[in-house]
Amino acid sequence: MSGTPLLLIEDDRDLGHMLVDLFTEQGYTVDLAPDGQRGLHLALSRTYNAMIIDRGLPTIDGVDLLRRLRGRGVTVPALVLTAFGSLEDRVAGLDAGAEDYLVKPFEIDELLARVRALHRRNLDQATLLPLGAGWLDPESHTVRLPTGEQVTLSGQECRLLCALASRPRQVHTRASLRQRVFDGARKESIVDTYVYYLRGKLGQRVVSTVRGVGYRLGEL
Ligand code: CA
Repeated sequence: MSGTPLLLIEDDRDLGHMLVDLFTEQGYTVDLAPDGQRGLHLALSRTYNAMIIDRGLPTIDGVDLLRRLRGRGVTVPALVLTAFGSLEDRVAGLDAGAEDYLVKPFEIDELLARVRALHRRNLDQATLLPLGAGWLDPESHTVRLPTGEQVTLSGQECRLLCALASRPRQVHTRASLRQRVFDGARKESIVDTYVYYLRGKLGQRVVSTVRGVGYRLGEL
């Protein structure tokens, strides 16, 4: 029986092989790509449940690679490994379409837990808001709840929900939401305010908070 397919894109030879052994022991089937170009090729030609992408890679940088994959419709959940711990670097990875990130050096147990969470998220897609099933009508700003009840949103509430729903598995930074939804607003706290409004109308779980980073679409 073959394991859960995982793509690891890591140019550090020792770390790469150590991680392959580790994940193989845990029941994954791992493909290791030693540079961005080979990672891109594998991610476009095979199916994976999760990807681990090193940020600093030869030929194509990890963030650029992820952006290209997302641009070509690859939605496999991704964790970016970054040697840089600054908020800006984390945000760059998330804005490129990563679901999660981990700063090097990391604890092995933490990496395993994060990858398990990515894998679960991949399986849990069905529990997300029922996208495309007519639940949200951007024209009339109405949301149909599972109970059949209709809730009317304001224009900005609706735009915020649409922005989150446009990439349902991605963490959206507050900065990117402010820019996309509240053009001209100076403070990122406007995003928090509208998340509060959405939760008031649609329930606490409609938007999940990713502490210190931003928000992700939740459940109805
Ligand atoms: Ca590297």
